[in-house]
Amino acid sequence: MNNNSGDDQVLLKSNDLKELRSSLRAIVDLRDRQYGFPAKTYESCFVGSEAVAQMVAKGLAADEDDAVRLGNVLLHAGIFHHVQRAHAFKNDYLFYRFASDEDHGRLPDGVADGSSVRWSDFLGILTSAKGGEGSLQPTLPEPDAELASMDQIDLETIGVSPLDEHNARLLDNVHPKKWLNPQPKPYNLVVIGAGAGGLVSAAGAAGVGARVALIEAHLLGGDCLNVGCVPSKALLRCAKAAAEVRDAGRFGVRIKGEISVDFAYVMERMRRLRAQISPVDSAQRYSGQLGVDLFIGKGIFTGKNSIEVGGKTLSFAKAVIATGGTAAIPNIPGLADSPYLTNNSIFNLTELPKRFGVIGAGPIGMELAQAFQRLGAQVTVLSRDGQILPKEEPEAAAIVKESMIRDGVAFAFNVTFKRIESVGEKGPVRVVLDEGGRERTFEFDALLIATGRKPAVTGLGLEQAGVEFDARLGVTVNERLQTTNADIYAVGDVAGKYQFTHMADFMARMVIKNALFFGRDKVSDLLIPWATYTDPEVAHVGLYEKDLTDRNIPFATFTREFSDVDRGIVDGIAAGYVKIHVAKGKDRILGATIVGSHAGDMISEITVAMQAGMGLGRLAGVIHPYPTAAEAIRQCGDAYNRGRLTPAVKSIFHNLMALRR
Ligand SMILES: Cc1cc2nc3c(=O)[nH]c(=O)nc-3n(C[C@H](O)[C@H](O)[C@H](O)COP(=O)(O)OP(=O)(O)OC[C@H]3O[C@@H](n4cnc5c(N)ncnc54)[C@H](O)[C@@H]3O)c2cc1C
Repeated sequence: MNNNSGDDQVLLKSNDLKELRSSLRAIVDLRDRQYGFPAKTYESCFVGSEAVAQMVAKGLAADEDDAVRLGNVLLHAGIFHHVQRAHAFKNDYLFYRFASDEDHGRLPDGVADGSSVRWSDFLGILTSAKGGEGSLQPTLPEPDAELASMDQIDLETIGVSPLDEHNARLLDNVHPKKWLNPQPKPYNLVVIGAGAGGLVSAAGAAGVGARVALIEAHLLGGDCLNVGCVPSKALLRCAKAAAEVRDAGRFGVRIKGEISVDFAYVMERMRRLRAQISPVDSAQRYSGQLGVDLFIGKGIFTGKNSIEVGGKTLSFAKAVIATGGTAAIPNIPGLADSPYLTNNSIFNLTELPKRFGVIGAGPIGMELAQAFQRLGAQVTVLSRDGQILPKEEPEAAAIVKESMIRDGVAFAFNVTFKRIESVGEKGPVRVVLDEGGRERTFEFDALLIATGRKPAVTGLGLEQAGVEFDARLGVTVNERLQTTNADIYAVGDVAGKYQFTHMADFMARMVIKNALFFGRDKVSDLLIPWATYTDPEVAHVGLYEKDLTDRNIPFATFTREFSDVDRGIVDGIAAGYVKIHVAKGKDRILGATIVGSHAGDMISEITVAMQAGMGLGRLAGVIHPYPTAAEAIRQCGDAYNRGRLTPAVKSIFHNLMALRR
C-alpha cells in the first residue's frame, strides 16, 4: 500500500467533524465585520480569539491550546478558513468564515490550495533557535576515514549474562523468549530497530492513529537501555560514591580502616536498575498498550515498499530505519584473535579486571575508564589522538583529564599500535605500541575497545529499497530525514553525527510529522545540547569558539570559574567553568560550554534561553537561588550587562550619583 493522501491519518471521523462544526457554529458570533483602513467589510465571519474563548467557556475545549487544536482540525478539514489568507487557526484577532457561508468551488483569494495549512501545524512545534547567524549546530569532525574498513559487531551473537533474576526480567521485557510475530497487514508505518529512535517513531505514530509495525532483531530499548546510557550511568553513580568516600578527608570526614568496593554488588545493582527501567521499552507495552505490531527478527528490505522479517513480508506506505550502530573495531594486528570487550559485553562482567586497558579517548571510553578506575581497577587509556574528548574544547578536556589523573588513570596519547596479542585464552592481553621503532608493551586483564561507532547499514537490503548509504556516515538523508527513497526515513545513530538518545528521540518526532503529516521540519533547525558524564561533567550547546571563528561570526565570550562562585568555594571546587558566547552587539547566545559536577543539568538553562530567544542580558535578570552553581550563568549575564554600558552612559550615571550625594 502506498497511500500518500494521508486520509487514513485523519484523527476524527466525519460524524465527529459534523458535530464539532455544528457546536462551533452555534457558539460563535457570526456577522459582517470591518477591518483595515480604509475599512473593508468581510461578510459572515467570526473572530479566532472570540471563538477560542467561547469553546473553552462552553466546554467544547479543555483549554485555549485545546481550542486552537480543534480549530485547526476543522480548518484543515475545510469547514472554515481565514477570510483572506491560508492562515492556521489562531487565538488571535483574525477573521474566519465557514465554507458553507460562501460560494462553493472557489478558494479564498490568495489561497492556491490547502497545503499551506498542515496537520503538522497542530501536532506541536519542534522549537528551533535558528536566527540571524544561521544554524547553531557546531561542525563536528567527520568520522575517521578508517571507520569504513573497521569491523562491526554482529548483534545477534551478543548475549546478556549472567542469567540472574534481573537479566531474566530484562529479557522477559525486551526479548520475550516465545514471542509469536503477528500476521502482517498493510502498514502506514514500519519501523526497523527498537532503540530510542525506533521506539519513539513507533509510539508516536501509533498514538496518532497510524497502523504501525516495529521490527527488532535483538533487544528492545537498543543500546541506550541495554548496553549504553542506562548501565553506564548506573556504574558511574557507584564510582562517584567511591570517589566521594576517598575524598571525604578533605571535608573532615575520617574513615577508619580500608575502604573497598564490592564490584559484584555494583554490577548486580546495575542489572537490577536496568531491569527496573525496562518495562517502558517492553514488548508487552508496545504490543499490548500502544497497539504496535511487534516483530522480533531481523528486518531486510525486499523492495521499495516492502520488508521481510522471519519469513513474513510487510508492506508499508512509509518506513523508518532506526537500526543504530555498534562498536567499530579497529584494524590492529592480532586484535581479532584476542579477547576484548566493547560496550556490548562490558556490562556482562561480574569480576573487576585489575589491570584495565581502554583503547580510545572519546566520551564512552572516558566515562568507563573513570568508572573502572574509581571502582578499583588500574586503568590505562591508549589513544591515537592528542587529547581526550576530542570534540570538546581543549580547556574542558584538560580539566577532565586532570581529574582522571588524580583518580589514578594513566594515559598514553598519539600512540601507534603495533600489535595486540593474547597471553592466555581469556586474557591477559598484551598491547604493543611502536614508539619510533622501539616497542612499548602493556599487559591488561581486560581490554575495552572504544574507538567509535559504526552505523548499522549492512545486511538490511537497503539496495533493494533504493536507499543510499555510506559504511562510515550511515544512511544518506536530506534535511527532512528522508532517504533517497521518498517513502523511507532514517533516524538516530544510523543517520546522524549527533549520536545521543535525545537526538534519536527528536529525530523520530520530526519524522512522524514529516512522514505522516506532511511536515516540513528540518533537522538543522534543532538545537542539540549534550553532556559527557565524567566527573566533572562536560556539557555543551550551540557553537564552539572554533566554529564562530571559522564562520566569521563576531562574538564576545563570558566565562565564570566555579572557584569564584560562592557555591563552588564552599563545595571545594577547584576547576570547572561556565563559558557563554554571545553575538557581538546583539543580546543573542550562540553557544556555551559548562564543565562541572552537574553540567549536564545546568546546560538546559542555557538551551532554554537560546531556544526561547532570550539573551544573556535578560538571563541576568532571572533570580537564581543563592548559593547555587547556576549562579555562574547569571553572573556571566551580569558581566555582559556591565559591558553594555557605553562610556557616555557610565559618565551620565557618574554625574547623577554625584548630584545625589
Ligand atoms: C556506553 C554508551 C553510553 C552512552 N551514553 C549515552 C548518554 O549518556 N546519553 C545519550 O544521549 N546517549 C548515550 N549513548 C548513545 C545512545 O545510546 C545512542 O545514541 C542511542 O542508543 C541511539 O539510538 P538509536 O535508536 O539510533 O539506535 P540503537 O539504540 O542502537 O538501536 C538500534 C536497534 O536496531 C536494532 N537493529 C539493527 N539492525 C536491525 C535489523 N536489520 N532489523 C531489526 N532490528 C535491527 C538493534 O538491535 C537495536 O536494538 C551511549 C552509548 C553507549 C554505547
